[in-house]
Parts: sequence; structure tokens; C-alpha cells
Amino acid sequence: MSVAVKLTNVVKRFGALEVLKGVSFKINSGEVVALIGQSGSGKSTALRCINRLETIQDGSIEVCGHRVEDPKLDLRTLRRDIGMVFQSYNLFPHMTVAENIMLALRRVKGMRKDQAFEIARQVLAKVGLSEKIDAYPEQLSGGQQQRVAIARSLAMQPKVMLFDEVTSALDPKLTGEVLRVMEDLARGGMTMIVVTHEMGFAKRAANRVIYMHTGKVWETGGAEILSNPQTPELKEFMAAEL
Ligand code: ADP
Ligand code: MG
Repeated sequence: MSVAVKLTNVVKRFGALEVLKGVSFKINSGEVVALIGQSGSGKSTALRCINRLETIQDGSIEVCGHRVEDPKLDLRTLRRDIGMVFQSYNLFPHMTVAENIMLALRRVKGMRKDQAFEIARQVLAKVGLSEKIDAYPEQLSGGQQQRVAIARSLAMQPKVMLFDEVTSALDPKLTGEVLRVMEDLARGGMTMIVVTHEMGFAKRAANRVIYMHTGKVWETGGAEILSNPQTPELKEFMAAEL
């Protein structure tokens, strides 16, 4: 089994504020990890360090063979291997769904229009939105827009997908359709790190759960730690989530 993402004693500071205090974890190819924890515990920062939206002060990060902290690292080759989806989907409003998906394929990968369109067709089928290929974002629900954002990321064929609270802005009905798409991806063997408050999703889809607290990996294990937490902090967190 090959290592997809490995953090070793990662320290991240913003000025005097130490946000990641020696974080270590390892994810193999094909694994799905749910990253959970209170607001402010460092989950988003950890994801942002993985694709070098933030630089780290100490420790090391390896992603699909790239040394992320290496100042000479080519960010384009790193980010080719990583897809990231956020809470806000940021689709271009003046472009159709197909055009939104094709944009990076054309600009970054230099693909021909017909090739890019074919890929847009394929990834939209994966997220169950084939019939929306010519729609504009404003004609879609929030859940559908988020599924387009996931499709846009998939179109680049990343080796690892990072999800940061992608359903937090959606009402429960729309949350379900997005989580189902993510569960399909998980079953299809995609390597995923999912920051989420959706404990049902974590239980169903995650091979492993990482609970962060105050900038540290506080507890980690299979999904069973959600029903049977060992630390008082995770117990309290789970009680508050229910
Ligand atoms: P989480 O995603 O778990 O809610 P974050 O990683 O967003 O937590 O934030 C962890 C801590 O780092 C918080 O105290 C937050 O205020 C701080 N932080 C995050 N980004 C910055 C930044 N760019 N500058 C200063 N502090 C930041
Ligand atoms: Mg966050």
C-alpha cells in the first residue's frame, strides 16, 4: 500500500499563535479519513498546509511523493495531484456548468475543447448531474452547485481529494445529496481527507477518524471511536455533536 499523505511533527504558527503543535498522521492510497474537531482546532489549517496554501515552520509533509515543505517544490506539480473542495463552491456565474468544469482542463492541461467536454460529461455523470451540463450556476440549488464543484475537481484527476466542510452551508436535504456523492467516491477508491461535522457520514464512509483538539491529533482510530471515545475531550465533542 502506498502512502498518499504523511505529516510528521508538523508545526504551523501565525505569528505567536501556534495552531498546529506537532501534528503527525499518515494516509494510504484509497483510504478515507474523517478529520473532526471543534472549531479552531486546526483542521482547515492542516488541509491548507497539505497543498501548501500555508507554509509550515517545522516538521515535514509528503504528498504522493512530493516533499511539500521543500522551497524548491513546483507547486503546479503538487496541486495537480490534489483536489480541494471548500464550503463555498465559487463557480463562475457567467459560465455554464460545462464551461466551469472545462476551464482548468483547457488552461492548465491545454486540452482540446472536445476532449475537455467529454471529461465534463463523464464527471457530471459521476455526481448525478448529466442533465445540468448547459445550466448556469444560478439555475442550480446549493447542493447541485457543490456537486458541480466536486465534479470540476474530479475532472483534473487528482490522486487525493481534500474536503473542508463542504456541506456546512447547505440545508439538511441538500447535504444528503452531496454526502452521497462523496460516499460513492469513497467506495470507488478515491483517497480522501474529509473535514466534517457529519458524524453519520464519518461512520459510514471513513476507514479512519482523526480527532484534532487544540492543534494536536488527540485521538485516532477506526469509526468505532465515534461511538466509543477514549478521551474525555472526544466524549464531550461527540456529546455536543448529537
Ligand atoms: P478549524 O478549521 O479547525 O476550525 P482553523 O485551522 O481554521 O481551525 O484555525 C485554527 C486556528 O488558527 C484558529 O485559532 C484560527 O483563528 C487561527 N488561524 C487560522 N488561519 C489564520 C491566519 N491566516 N492568521 C491568523 N490566525 C489564523
Ligand atoms: Mg475549518
